[in-house]
Amino acid sequence: MSESELPGAPDLAYRDGALSLEQVPVARIAEQVGTPFYAYSSAHLERRYREFTVAFGGKAMLCFAVKALSNVAVLRHLGRLGAGADLVSEGELRRALAAGIPPSRIIFSGIGKTETELRAALAADLHQINVESAPELSLLSDLAQRMGKTARVAIRINPDVAADTHAKISTGKAGSKFGIDLVHAADSFRRAKQLPGIEPVGAAVHIGSQITSLAPLEAAFGRVVDVYKAMRGEGIKLTRLDLGGGLGIRYRHETPPSINAYAAMVTRLTRGLDASLSFEQGRWICGNAGILVSRVLYIKDGATRRFVIVDAAMNDLVRPAMYEAWHEIVPAIAPAAKAKRAPADVVGPVCETGDIFATERELPPVAAGDLVALLSAGAYGAIMSSEYNSRLLVPEVIVRGTEFATVRPRPTYEDMLAREKLPPWL
Ligand SMILES: *Cc1c(COP(=O)(O)O)cnc(C)c1O
Repeated sequence: MSESELPGAPDLAYRDGALSLEQVPVARIAEQVGTPFYAYSSAHLERRYREFTVAFGGKAMLCFAVKALSNVAVLRHLGRLGAGADLVSEGELRRALAAGIPPSRIIFSGIGKTETELRAALAADLHQINVESAPELSLLSDLAQRMGKTARVAIRINPDVAADTHAKISTGKAGSKFGIDLVHAADSFRRAKQLPGIEPVGAAVHIGSQITSLAPLEAAFGRVVDVYKAMRGEGIKLTRLDLGGGLGIRYRHETPPSINAYAAMVTRLTRGLDASLSFEQGRWICGNAGILVSRVLYIKDGATRRFVIVDAAMNDLVRPAMYEAWHEIVPAIAPAAKAKRAPADVVGPVCETGDIFATERELPPVAAGDLVALLSAGAYGAIMSSEYNSRLLVPEVIVRGTEFATVRPRPTYEDMLAREKLPPWL
């Protein structure tokens, strides 16, 4: 793989033979932070945010999907650039507010918002609450009345379009748990208009994640635009279209649509519609901004296979085990041009057969003690990490130019144990 091909380029590259995020060699971070750790490029996050907003001529609001990468430092960085936030829980609301993202740029999504969460959303006067069921709409109306608030509501429509992505991240087909079915959408808007405390402001859609062709998005948006027009025709004064996230990125050989092609498609579908547009991209913004750096512990030559055992595991990055996801794996020191590649299984220390990052991967020579990086790990990486096997939660670092800062330190074993309490009888 040539330098320019690294996902994350140009912010991730070999500089003088050292794998570097912006101007910081990952080995330098490893010296200070230890391994494993996640590192994110500020420049990459900014590059993606700007590319997106420029593609829409500065007229669309990008509400970063916090669930893709929720570290407060990342949220503050994006928020200062002008990004809003798309949330799926009160915890994420707390994070967005702690990051300084104004409520006027926050959208609350999710099919199972609790009463407490809806109250928190109303109290914060969020830009928009995306409602996903009839009972949620009723509850929100009750709460808003009691609190003397008006909820600005978008109805999330399930457009019955298959996203052509991994089954576990497809959300827009009839029968999925997300959104209000197309056949019930119009009634939901009519009810929203009648209910006290509710102001229907728009229609929302999100059909899944890591979508690498425009066709399913276009089909879904077309259906939502039809509903939007029909509702306006009935005198329901909708003014907003929330077209969700889901744009795919390159992990390996994927060829996702360019952001300009995506913007052109949306602009064509929404021309003359009198709707302000918002988006909820997560992965597209942060996926290739982050890497997971790990150290090789052992090389084990099995009878039939060679194993590269690293100090990161499925509890730190679950995507390969959960979604059969591919992450490029590269050494921290540039391999020699004629270095011979050989197949190996890259595995972690966790006691699960599924704790495998790569199977039969053609790798340049690596030895015990070497650093390797798993690329494209910015989205759905650190946020899905756990302490399974009582491994300490993986730290996070953010890089800016020649400097870096730890934005989630590695806890100590004392921290880990202090969270637990014994019952009085033991
Ligand atoms: C997960 C999610 C997103 C973000 O998806 P990406 O694929 O990361 O862009 C956006 N909107 C909603 C409602 C989501 O659940």
